[in-house]
Amino acid sequence: MTSHHPIAIIGGGPAGALAASLLAAAGRDVSVFDEKLAWEKPCGGGLTWKALQQYPFLAEAGAQSKSVEHCELISSCGQRVRLRLQHPVAVFSRLALNGLLLERARSAGANVYRERVTSIGGSAGDWRLATPHGEYSASHLVIAAGARNPFRGQFAAPISPHDLMATAGYFIPVHTALMQIQFLSGISGYIWVFPRPDHVSAGIAGKMGETSTRALRHLLEQWLDQNGFSLDGATFYSHILPSLRAQTMEALEVSGDGWAMVGDSAGLVDPITGEGLYYALRSAELCAEALVAERPQDYKQRLEEEVLPELRLAARVCDRFYRGQVFGDSVPERMVALTAQSDKFRELMSDLFAGIQGYRDLKARLFRILPTVMAEGLATTLFRPLRSGSLAPTTSAE
Ligand SMILES: Cc1cc2nc3c(=O)[nH]c(=O)nc-3n(C[C@H](O)[C@H](O)[C@H](O)COP(=O)(O)OP(=O)(O)OC[C@H]3O[C@@H](n4cnc5c(N)ncnc54)[C@H](O)[C@@H]3O)c2cc1C
Repeated sequence: MTSHHPIAIIGGGPAGALAASLLAAAGRDVSVFDEKLAWEKPCGGGLTWKALQQYPFLAEAGAQSKSVEHCELISSCGQRVRLRLQHPVAVFSRLALNGLLLERARSAGANVYRERVTSIGGSAGDWRLATPHGEYSASHLVIAAGARNPFRGQFAAPISPHDLMATAGYFIPVHTALMQIQFLSGISGYIWVFPRPDHVSAGIAGKMGETSTRALRHLLEQWLDQNGFSLDGATFYSHILPSLRAQTMEALEVSGDGWAMVGDSAGLVDPITGEGLYYALRSAELCAEALVAERPQDYKQRLEEEVLPELRLAARVCDRFYRGQVFGDSVPERMVALTAQSDKFRELMSDLFAGIQGYRDLKARLFRILPTVMAEGLATTLFRPLRSGSLAPTTSAE
């Protein structure tokens, strides 16, 4: 027997669950299918201040996240600087975040099924979804199945391994208040330590093909050991992360007749930072608004206006960020040094972490603050007290 669902959402992660709650709240008959429902998806779980402003119910769920105000940046040469974030980052366990979003979908009236969709047949207006429990039909599909989206090739050009990052990490049962980011030489990615309410998510990401997941894991384990993290009781994780190249981003297909893709399924992740949660939520919201207005074609247009220009620019500069040189140093090396030397540059870094400094107006801001940053850098180098017995200046930028 086939049961009919006007709107079927495949995947109940942040993108699928938010789309379901918004559609149900607007009176739509919507069903969301997730093979696991709420689970500890491999993730840092960091949500920017911008995301918390856009989705205040996440800011209000304070007890389920850890508010992080201090971040340590470490360059590949080992220079460390601590930065106070003017707008804290909220770090969620994904079990808690997904659970909260799915509960909102249920309370708004969405049907939530713990079922794996194994195939999609039919066409717009009469899609046929098969799960191990039965068959469902739907008029419209929202595909929110994440980075391993098995249906992508059926609807749009498949994502190549060159458009992915490999990640490896550990959930470690320790408490810390400090977020850490370690840049790495020869790897287009970084190591992170994100404090959560009762553990930390520590991980490493690098462009697929640049190095193997095994090598990344080894690098991470070495770093954790050197930085005082024991892996006793820790759980290993590994996953993929979309990191689209500029040419893929240019030709991105996110919707068609009777279907739309949102979040990681669509490849909507910042290729430089790996931030995907905000884009998962925002793309779901734009998609839901278009469906509620009965103008599904508006989804693509709203993404084109608001989200894609930012992600496209990030894709264009990603290689230069990780592999380019500024005054003889790598960009992350120079960035860490400027963060240590200049208040003005620290403000900029804090706004980048908050998600309120976009890429499109970054160049203009850099030119505006350049004279102050240079003067502060010079003054710090010349007048900072020397460490005893050393010619190297000390660095504390909190
Ligand atoms: C290691 C790592 C660290 C990250 N850290 C951060 C971070 O700190 N901050 C940030 O903003 N982003 C981070 N990201 C990115 C972030 O995790 C993703 O962008 C985000 O989870 C995307 O949400 P989504 O709903 O699109 O997909 P997902 O969260 O992947 O959800 C997809 C859902 O679909 C379900 N599903 C898949 N196939 C089927 C099927 N056939 N039938 C039924 N259900 C199905 C899955 O069970 C899953 O629940 C990280 C990613 C990785 C890999």
